[in-house]
Amino acid sequence: MISKNCQQIETVIAEQVEASGRSLEEVTCVAVTKMRSLEEVAELYQQGYRHFAENRPEGLKEKQAAFPHSDIHWHYIGSLQTRKVKQVINEIAFFHALDRESLAKEIEKRANHTVSCFVQVNVTGETSKQGVSPCDLMPFIESLGAYSKISVVGLMTMAPIDATEDELRTCFQTLKQLQTSIAKQQYPHAPCLETSMGMSNDYPIALQEGATFIRIGSAFFE
Ligand SMILES: *Cc1c(COP(=O)(O)O)cnc(C)c1O
Repeated sequence: MISKNCQQIETVIAEQVEASGRSLEEVTCVAVTKMRSLEEVAELYQQGYRHFAENRPEGLKEKQAAFPHSDIHWHYIGSLQTRKVKQVINEIAFFHALDRESLAKEIEKRANHTVSCFVQVNVTGETSKQGVSPCDLMPFIESLGAYSKISVVGLMTMAPIDATEDELRTCFQTLKQLQTSIAKQQYPHAPCLETSMGMSNDYPIALQEGATFIRIGSAFFE
């Protein structure tokens, strides 16, 4: 099941990346393994996946204990309570959920190296969602210059689950435009060259709109 899903996903990624005139090396597929078994993670590893994402400190800890392989890049996605920063921040390669200054402060205090962060943006303004609103984004990015342990490698968003194709496109295009305008500023602390967007239901569209990191969970397993 997983190997068949992998084949299908890889075919779609290859098609969309080619259609957008890019090369496969420009796109990282992050396998979201939250709530999945160790056997399932093992199978993805066997299939060649090396980027895994978890959304709870406990889940991250469990998976890392079972897969101590030095060639795995761990990602943290989803909301993180400030007091739990110390449990995860030195264990991961990428943090996808930087959305407030209190979190930046705590990362500064707890990290023992520079952390590659995505600033999470709430593009569509849904009240239930985490993320900085587009109009607060520039000042927030500027404020992060005060934190030596934070490097803003890109922007991340989650599209609304019930969005139409047009709404998805608009959402991803907006994130891409925001990312480009920040990159243009050439802030030393915020190169911001990446966009983390696209999940199981919308990653083909996200790739068409220039996603460089896609985060896929259920499509691998169901
Ligand atoms: C769960 C999750 C995903 C993966 O979602 P699927 O629909 O299962 O592909 C991606 N990003 C975030 C932030 C998530 O929480």
